[in-house]
Amino acid sequence: MQPGWLFEEADGALRCTACGQRCLIRPGKRGICQMRVNKNGQLQVPWGYVAAANVDPIEKKPFMHFLPGSSALTFGMLGCNFHCDFCQNWVSSQALRDPASESSLRYIQEISPRDLARFAVNSGAQIIASSYNEPLITTEWAIEIFKTAKDNGLKCVYVSNGFATPEALLALQPYLDGYKIDLKTMTDEKYRSLGGNLQVVQDTIQRAHDLGMWVEVVTLVIPDFNDSNEELWDTARYLSTISRDIPWHVTAFYPTYKHLGVDRTSADTIQRAAEIGQEAGLRYVYAGNLPGRVGSLENTYCPHCQTLLIERTGYALKQISITNEGTCPHCGEKIAGVWALHS
Ligand code: SF4
Repeated sequence: MQPGWLFEEADGALRCTACGQRCLIRPGKRGICQMRVNKNGQLQVPWGYVAAANVDPIEKKPFMHFLPGSSALTFGMLGCNFHCDFCQNWVSSQALRDPASESSLRYIQEISPRDLARFAVNSGAQIIASSYNEPLITTEWAIEIFKTAKDNGLKCVYVSNGFATPEALLALQPYLDGYKIDLKTMTDEKYRSLGGNLQVVQDTIQRAHDLGMWVEVVTLVIPDFNDSNEELWDTARYLSTISRDIPWHVTAFYPTYKHLGVDRTSADTIQRAAEIGQEAGLRYVYAGNLPGRVGSLENTYCPHCQTLLIERTGYALKQISITNEGTCPHCGEKIAGVWALHS
């Protein structure tokens, strides 16, 4: 660990400002995420390691409008500021919070930003992504990595629950090109049951968009949790008020962790959610986790002339015809997104 700088002094304690929990951490104590510690009046934060590092397609994050077909060197740490019982990465995210995830501590490997950037470049990646656990809680370390990544010509993205603070977003702005944010529900009560609240996530989506980061939003559609027409309409309408150009991914849930007595999300439900997104005016709606079973909902079409621009099955690109300038080759419509490494 090393001293962190996302905090404020407060009444003989430290107020962490890395995420929306804003934990007041007294000497000798840890924040909710268990990863940030007040050691003798100094905030100590994770540093110098990763708990996982893999080269993945950018479509797996998922980003559909961010250098499609490119690879992202994806690193993860440990810990989270939420405790979702349907977490698909719970072994790493619930480290030190759930004794069943104890094995995750064995995943830690020491590494330097230089070695991570070299790993990315040597493997042909154009992007470095912080993912697998909640990246906000290790923002100081991510920024250290992103500085070196930028020096090596790489783009940088977060894959996050969006429970951010304005302080963290401003600190990340010079480095972060893309921000994938989960919008898990439109009900504050349900957000609180996961450990967060709705307003902070909505503020993050708005702020990240206003700060010029490329934002894509994911809703994991879970039967009997957030799959009602009413809630899907609320989500889609809300996103369309920020920008109709924000891609919305509606992805299928499968039973995992503590959310086991529930069916997988059906293709019909995902198609219904996607139709709601389209009817609400969102120009780019994608279905996730059901490759080959959702018709055209994995593809990108020109919103003006409906030309097929990118054809996908799962994470695989079958064809791409969007221009390097990010326009439709048929009608010239500008397609929102990041299409070139140097844009
Ligand atoms: S990152 Fe969030 S959860 Fe962790 S100590 Fe800071 S405010 Fe608390």
